[in-house]
This record gives sequence, structure tokens and C-alpha cells, in this order.
Amino acid sequence: MEPRPEHTIAFTGLKDGAHRFHFALGDAFFSACGDEEFLGGEADVRVDLEKNNNLLVALIHVDGRVRMLCDHCNTPMEQPVKGDQRQIFKLTGEEETDEDELVSLAPDAHAINLTHYIYECIRLHLPIRHVHPEGQCDPEVTQALDQVLVPHEPDPRWAKLNELKKKGA
Ligand SMILES: [Zn+2]
Repeated sequence: MEPRPEHTIAFTGLKDGAHRFHFALGDAFFSACGDEEFLGGEADVRVDLEKNNNLLVALIHVDGRVRMLCDHCNTPMEQPVKGDQRQIFKLTGEEETDEDELVSLAPDAHAINLTHYIYECIRLHLPIRHVHPEGQCDPEVTQALDQVLVPHEPDPRWAKLNELKKKGA
């Protein structure tokens, strides 16, 4: 997704040590994700940034709700999402390493943008299957699904009828 300007942290002016940032995500963020599963949502994001020498360690913590369609009844529901992700930025300009959580920045970089990592953190902590809490699915859909899903015993009368047909043939 496109980096959002409010998630940019200019780190050159920061002293070495720990810094904390807060971001509030709303519907604008979730619709800008380009994730067709997201209908909207809201979340608090806390970033603990540790700066030292040529390293920035960002611990992203997300706590919120994403509006998505229920996998069972296909109507909107609020999926809670909560969790952390660590992201390390190295100011060396070296080649990217194989480690996912390590990103190399150009030596003259002065800011990082966290939009992508915040989105990743949300995605990472969303369950694959999301359904309404028990009993809260759309009752009409549930009823319709129950009717479809109940296995039908073949009506014994049909068996009889088939027998008769065979004999008659
Ligand atoms: Zn449901």
C-alpha cells in the first residue's frame, strides 16, 4: 500500500535510546490498504523505536478491530486483531539480507515510513478463518445454510417406486 505521511518517522533528529509513537488507524487506513477483505476498521498502533548507532529497531504493536465479511454467513463482522511485529532497519546501504525483519536503508536516509509494516502486522495477526461469535451470524443466512447442509436421507418411498418401475420395465 502507499506510504501514508503520518507514519513517517524522521529519525535523524532523534537521540539514541527509546522513543514511543502512537498512531490511530481508522476507515481511511483500512480502505487505502487495497485489501479487498477489509471493509473498514479501527486500531491503535504503538511503536517502540530503539535507536542506536546504525540500527533502528521498531516494535510495532497493534490493537484493534477489522471489519470483514464473516466466513460463515457472509455479512460484516468485527474481527479483533492484536499483536506485535519487530522490524529492524540498518543504516548501511548494504545488500538486503535474507532476514525478513531486517531492512537496509541508504546511509543518507533520514526517515522511515511504517505504513507497510503496520499493515503487515495487522495481516499477520488476523486469523485465517473469521466468523461471528457463536450464535451471532445472520439468522436468515444461518437458517438457509442449515437447510442446505442437513444431509437428506433418501425418501424410502422413492426406493419403493424405483423397485416397482424396474419390475414393470
Ligand atoms: Zn456470521
